[in-house]
Amino acid sequence: MKKIISVFTAAAFTLMLGSCADKNALQTSAVPVRWLERPSVILDAGHGGADGGGVSVNGVPEKGINLNIAATTADLLMLMGYKVTLTRTEDVSIHDSGTEGLKAQKLSDMENRLELFNTPDSVCVSIHQNRFTDPKYSGAQMFYHRPNTEGQKLAEALKARITGYLQPDNQRETKPTDDELYLLCNCDNPTVMAECGFISNPEEAALLEQVPYQREMAFAIMAGINDFHIETGRISQKNAENK
Ligand SMILES: [Zn+2]
Repeated sequence: MKKIISVFTAAAFTLMLGSCADKNALQTSAVPVRWLERPSVILDAGHGGADGGGVSVNGVPEKGINLNIAATTADLLMLMGYKVTLTRTEDVSIHDSGTEGLKAQKLSDMENRLELFNTPDSVCVSIHQNRFTDPKYSGAQMFYHRPNTEGQKLAEALKARITGYLQPDNQRETKPTDDELYLLCNCDNPTVMAECGFISNPEEAALLEQVPYQREMAFAIMAGINDFHIETGRISQKNAENK
C-alpha cells in the first residue's frame, strides 16, 4: 500500500504542478509528462435506471452503490494518468434510444456495455454487490471467465488489495465462470466482475451504503488495477517506483 500511496501522491502533485506552476517552473520540472499516457480502463457500474440490481437489507438498491464506487475508482485512476471510460455516470440504462420494453432495453443496455468492454487494449472491471438468502455471508468476491487467464490475474490483484486493505478475514477464492455472465464470456480483454460485498449481510450492507467505505473500496480497486498493470508489464515497475 505504501508504494501505491506514494504513486498516488506523485500523480496528484503532477496535476497540481500542471494547473498552478508558472511556465518556467513547468519547463524545468523533473516530473515526466508520460504519467498522462497510461492504458485504457473500462469501469462498469452494474445495473442502472429501471434495473436497480439487488436490494440491501435496508432497502437500498445496488445500482447506486455500484455507481459511487465506480465513479470514485475512475477519478483515482484518472488522477494517476489512466484513460478511463465509465459505462454510465448517472442512474440510467444505456440502451439505444427508441428501444421499447424493459427486456429489449436490458438487452440493448448489455450490448452497449459489452461494446465498451471490447475497446482494444483495455482492462475491464464490472462493479456489483452480492446478496444471498442467508444473511450470514459477507466479503468481496471476484469472478472471471475461465479461459481468460489475464482476467484471473486481474481478479487475484483486486482480491489481494480488497482483502489486504479492507477485509483481512475474507477467505473467498476468486471464481472462474463458464458462459453464464454475459460481459465476462464475450470479452477478450482482461475482465473481472467485482462483487464488493454482500448487501444481504446487515453489517456489510451498512458499510457498503456509506460514502467513506465506498471510497475505501474504490481505493482498493484502483490499487488492484494498478498492480495488475505493473505485474503484467503494461506499465513498468521502474516507472511506478520513480514517480
Ligand atoms: Zn449486480
